[in-house]
Amino acid sequence: MSNNVEDLARANVRALTPYQSARRLGGNGDVWLNANEFPLPVPFELSQQTLNRYPECQPKLVISRYAAYAGVQPEQVLVSRGADEGIELLMRAFCEPGKDAILFCPPTYGMYSVSAETIGIEYRTVPALDNWQLNLPAIADQLDGVKVVYMCSPNNPTGNLIDQDDIRQLLAMTAGKALVVADEAYIEFCPQATLAGWLQEFPHLVILRTLSKAFALAGLRCGFTLANKPVIDLLLKVIAPYPLATPVADVAAQALSEQGIALMRQHAQQLNDNRAWLCEQLPQLSVVQQVFPSETNYILARFTDSPKVFKTLWDQGIILRDQNKNPGLAGCLRISIGTREECERLIAALQALSVEQA
Ligand code: PMP
Repeated sequence: MSNNVEDLARANVRALTPYQSARRLGGNGDVWLNANEFPLPVPFELSQQTLNRYPECQPKLVISRYAAYAGVQPEQVLVSRGADEGIELLMRAFCEPGKDAILFCPPTYGMYSVSAETIGIEYRTVPALDNWQLNLPAIADQLDGVKVVYMCSPNNPTGNLIDQDDIRQLLAMTAGKALVVADEAYIEFCPQATLAGWLQEFPHLVILRTLSKAFALAGLRCGFTLANKPVIDLLLKVIAPYPLATPVADVAAQALSEQGIALMRQHAQQLNDNRAWLCEQLPQLSVVQQVFPSETNYILARFTDSPKVFKTLWDQGIILRDQNKNPGLAGCLRISIGTREECERLIAALQALSVEQA
């Protein structure tokens, strides 16, 4: 028998390329524009001192406040360790490894495939159309054996919303066969586009949310799954016994208080204003080929020489996210929206490169 522990690991785990999170990729910056985080910390103080006790599995105050904020019933809310855990719980509850499949439409968020590979579930991809909308006929052709369709709106990394008439058609073609999961991680930047009001109509619709973006709490690791009770009850069967640490529930409840939500709305507005400013500035630069419209706290742009732009800015401590290897995104970089000063530093650095190129 081999002495190599690697040989003991599951074949799919040996073959797995882990998710390349912004933190794993590293960098030595002081302007972090690569993880779609809120640029400044929000101050919270811990009020719970009962760390000798296990926490509630689904802390009631967090659940009731999130339900009120999202306009749904508490029984339609599950809280988890980030939206990432929600992505995985859905696969674990609904997909049989080696038999069922999930489907998604690249370019999109990278964790759908990583979770599927980790669990050993087939994933099918149906590339988005040139305008980054759903290719509905191609999805219809691929649905056999699919249990969960992940659809990110607004989409990461492209920034666009998915057309709501198309989503209705997707829900019609999947009824009784598969769940449709709308990943709304960035919905606070375009709240009018949420599908939360559709839950009553569609038993197979699921919505993912997070405190990591507009709520400025990426370090907290707290996300939500919204769905009808039968779906939530199934997810509760497979979730860890204590998914949320007591300090996490404590801070989440504060973030979801009236004042917490008001602060989040101010923050989202500031980032939307900064995005509008960047969207005016970027197209004026000769290194920028194309700026894609965005409804989120990031902008995708295509550059004449993206490796050079990426490296030059990296060396100056301005860290962007390279999208070159993503299907259809050659030459593209994703820029998270920072403070106004950070946006100005970015534009100054790109101006210097544009002058050099001219
Ligand atoms: N969905 C999308 C589209 C995301 O961009 C992210 C974060 N990068 C997540 C889900 C996961 O968010 P969380 O931090 O809540 O795990």
